[in-house]
Amino acid sequence: MESQIQRVREAFASGRSRPVKFRLQQLEALRRMVQEREKDILEALAADLCKSELNAYSQEVITILGELDLVLENLPEWVTAKPAQKNLLTMLDEAYVQPEPLGVVLIIGAWNYPFVLTIQPLIGAIAAGNAVIIKPSELSEKTAKILTELLPQYLDQDLYAVINGGVKETTELLKQRFDHILYTGSMAVGKIVMEAAAKHLTPVTLELGGKSPCYVDTDCDLDVACRRITWGKYMNCGQTCIAPDYILCEPSLQNQIVQKIKETLKEFYGENIKESPDYERIINLHHFKRILNLLEGQKIAFGGETDEATRYIAPTILTDVDPEAKVMQEEIFGPVLPIVSVKNADEAIKFINSREKPLAFYIFSHNNKLVRRMIDGTSSGGVTANDVIMHFTLSSLPFGGVGSSGMGAYHGKYSFDTFSHQRSCLLKSLKREGANKLRYPPNSQSKVDWAKFFLLKRFNKGKLALLLLAFLGLVVAVLAKTVLSSKP
Ligand code: NAD
Repeated sequence: MESQIQRVREAFASGRSRPVKFRLQQLEALRRMVQEREKDILEALAADLCKSELNAYSQEVITILGELDLVLENLPEWVTAKPAQKNLLTMLDEAYVQPEPLGVVLIIGAWNYPFVLTIQPLIGAIAAGNAVIIKPSELSEKTAKILTELLPQYLDQDLYAVINGGVKETTELLKQRFDHILYTGSMAVGKIVMEAAAKHLTPVTLELGGKSPCYVDTDCDLDVACRRITWGKYMNCGQTCIAPDYILCEPSLQNQIVQKIKETLKEFYGENIKESPDYERIINLHHFKRILNLLEGQKIAFGGETDEATRYIAPTILTDVDPEAKVMQEEIFGPVLPIVSVKNADEAIKFINSREKPLAFYIFSHNNKLVRRMIDGTSSGGVTANDVIMHFTLSSLPFGGVGSSGMGAYHGKYSFDTFSHQRSCLLKSLKREGANKLRYPPNSQSKVDWAKFFLLKRFNKGKLALLLLAFLGLVVAVLAKTVLSSKP
């Protein structure tokens, strides 16, 4: 492993990954990989999560193709140095911010959307000019295998390496020095990653999870709200980091919500959900049992059927859920939707704020003022009003958590920024040394006064023009005086 990382580090040191032309070539090769090997990728996703081809394509492949298009189009602009504002002392110098690659980046992917959650950060890391070690999740083993096989066929093999393995290998990997780590997964492992990174002062982006609340207001189109909630909650069998984890609503809405979600489930998946090609399975037995454990002692208003052999858990709704119940203590990450009663929106805000900051927050209401009040009164990684999940799909929005749901963000330009160092550059000339006397010892009151003038004065363009005019006037006056006094 060490020698593999060393090889990647040497490849980065060669400077090969830096030219924008090279980055574009690699990203184009990645796009070719997705297009040419789409069938293999979809097969791997089907084997890991029982995702139908259509679901796998629309949930994972489209996102990657969209991200690649965006980056390929905008990268030449992103890599360009941005001029910085100057003060009077640096007016004649060049000041700019130049994004530069960080070095060797480690990306630890997750298993629930194993393709998109590994490749999307990789796109950002390549775009920013880094070398990358990719560690796919061992739980989605078929996707890990296909990535290990395909990536070296399309990308520079020395700059971008895939390392596989479980807890033991990840622990070993984390002992190595990286220049950035992006980890997607649980809070518990997030802490381990951060602790390991601290030993080398390596910056981290932690894409974690949490219990994302969904408030349903009485002033709301329940049919539409329940259809959207059903879609986001049960997609990928509930194994979505930004799925609505639980519903908060007034007691009078509970039974109507159950009824409408039931009807929607029938509309989406048919009478026999188990047979639906659109309904996935739980990743492994460990998670299957963990979810069943959360159901113990709960009032099941709908669903609850399970099949251990195929790791099937039916879409399930729990009613009258006690906020202290086990199912309300940890992220469910499965197709179980608890409904917790609150008196009103204010109580919902208090409820949310009494818990860890979630990765996402959803509000359903016709009342825009209430929507804004709830956004202002709470904190979460992201928010979508009157829908779920959709903020993830906009690459112009940073995707990431806050507090225990994570730190840092990526997607689109935010990925490029995450994997770049914004280097401050000031280019002076060796001329005009006279002006520098101001800062050299010995110091004096008049030097301090001049320094205050140069550094503290704020000039807008209008003021600067006036100053220039005054200066020119002074020059003209001096010249005139000289010419007149030199007349015979
Ligand atoms: P996990 O946290 O167990 O992560 C799995 C990875 O961590 C694997 O690569 C494994 O090798 C490594 N790992 C596990 N234990 C380790 C240890 N003790 N030391 C070192 N490495 C270790 O994955 P999980 O809990 O199954 O993931 C689910 C969580 O991920 C949920 O909370 C979900 O919300 C979150 N998630 C977040 C996002 C996001 O984008 N924010 C996306 C997907 C999943």
